[in-house]
Amino acid sequence: MDHSKSSTSLREAALRALDNAYAPYSNFRVGAALRTSDGRLVTGCNMENSAYGLAICAETLAVASAVSQGLTGFEEIAIATEDSEPTPPCGACRQVLNEFAPRIRISSYTRDGKEASWTLDELLPHAFVLNQSRGRM
Ligand SMILES: [Zn+2]
Repeated sequence: MDHSKSSTSLREAALRALDNAYAPYSNFRVGAALRTSDGRLVTGCNMENSAYGLAICAETLAVASAVSQGLTGFEEIAIATEDSEPTPPCGACRQVLNEFAPRIRISSYTRDGKEASWTLDELLPHAFVLNQSRGRM
């Protein structure tokens, strides 16, 4: 697999999703694109609401869209913003990603070409994992 080419298409998908961001309140527009284990791309954008607490992040929306299509294995997520520096996912999205892909690679891009990347392990050490035996003491 030509890794650099697939990263480019993932970045381009995130930038296209950024165009669909609905962020009239914060004006912090975000697009995200997930690559699934079987090579499919699933996108998301942030979606705000006049009741602010109902806002959904681009990364979480991409994961939800993928899960709704029966896709739960993810290899990489690209994030695109209009900020001056690459933006990592928020804490809540890190936990959402951890549910399905603890080893996912995360890349973030700005419109003007800056990029950064991390592993989820770096961004979310000691992630919460429900120990289902705890409730049965
Ligand atoms: Zn988030």
